[in-house]
Amino acid sequence: MTSNLLDYDLEGLAAFCEGLGEKRFRATQLFRWIHQKGATGFDQMTDLAKSLREKLPASAHIQSLKVVSRHDSADGTIKWLFDVGAGDVIETVFIPESDRGTLCISSQAGCAVGCRFCSTGHQGFSRNLTTAEIIGQLWFAEHFLRTHLGRDERVVSNVVMMGMGEPLQNYSQLLPALRVMLDDHAYGLSRRRVTVSTSGVVPMMDRLAQDCPVALAVSLHAPDDELRSNLVPLNRKYPIDDLLQACSRYQLAAPRDFITFEYCMLDGVNDQPEHAHQLVALMRKHSNEGLSCKFNLIPFNPFPASGLKRSGMPQVMAFAKILMDAGMVTTVRKTRGDDIDAACGQLAGDVQDRTGVQKRIASQRQGMLKGIKVVSKEVGV
Ligand code: SAH
Ligand code: SF4
Repeated sequence: MTSNLLDYDLEGLAAFCEGLGEKRFRATQLFRWIHQKGATGFDQMTDLAKSLREKLPASAHIQSLKVVSRHDSADGTIKWLFDVGAGDVIETVFIPESDRGTLCISSQAGCAVGCRFCSTGHQGFSRNLTTAEIIGQLWFAEHFLRTHLGRDERVVSNVVMMGMGEPLQNYSQLLPALRVMLDDHAYGLSRRRVTVSTSGVVPMMDRLAQDCPVALAVSLHAPDDELRSNLVPLNRKYPIDDLLQACSRYQLAAPRDFITFEYCMLDGVNDQPEHAHQLVALMRKHSNEGLSCKFNLIPFNPFPASGLKRSGMPQVMAFAKILMDAGMVTTVRKTRGDDIDAACGQLAGDVQDRTGVQKRIASQRQGMLKGIKVVSKEVGV
């Protein structure tokens, strides 16, 4: 079997070239052809030595993802479903805004964390995506969009790891993909324009801080351990204090940055004024460890199996006001792509279970939302 070159960051590709008896700098040329020009065939790579072009097909190929479908929203949001084999389907969403184009990427087929309000969590874990499948979503979207929109320059300006799956439970495949996103010979995205969202895998947050300190979003959803453990089962392993300490350590590696806390607003569950006051107290407690944060309140996108309801807008705004009055930067997200089920908690995938029975599963997704700024006060607490 030949190697899929989308599996490599530049270092990996250099090692691959050396393995073929080629000079390392050849890797940079190859890397640019693949990621900047979207090449899929070696014969396109005209500045590559002919001998290498002839040698490559025997040991390598460039394979992105198989599209199942594409849905275009009236608001410009585009959702793709990709078939990753064995009945697993993953989703990628592009959200255009006036000043940016954000791509929301999946990291796993399914998810093992099992959050109560998340349909991917209800669906269970199928498998980790490979580096090629993670970066392949960006490769595919970027080159599709350039052609589709008739643009020569970069279309995707921001990436959020907020599609299906828990990225930090797929660290070894995630890391090379992040490096490709940041590499100037590939997509050249700045560290602050790539966000990893996590439900709080503490040891891997520390690894990420050392290896590749991109922007971090932490899915908090509750101000105390009892409630959070109920909503996000991983909290039993890594409780809130450990999580927030890990956030403070993360900021040592990425000073001047904020940690974004995501908070999914669930009617009557975590959306009461006392929860907001508890959050303020919690953040104050951790602010002397150097933690500076902002809050992103996400209206829950319901699905029947959850038994949960979306908080009313007045409730969300009252909650936001308490946080803002305490000096915390707070945003409320507005859904995008509702008409194509691309909004948070609305993406759907056809997933085949291990017995081969086709099941239609509404996978609750996120990150498909447009942040609307409610207020911007003093930074930190
Ligand atoms: N596993 C990672 C990243 C994917 S989930 C994480 O949990 O952070 C990205 C965000 O979408 C998380 O904040 C998650 O809590 C939120 N989310 C999941 N299901 C949702 C739903 N039904 N409605 C609104 N937000 C949801
Ligand atoms: Fe997994 Fe994130 Fe969904 Fe929780 S919210 S089940 S961690 S994808």
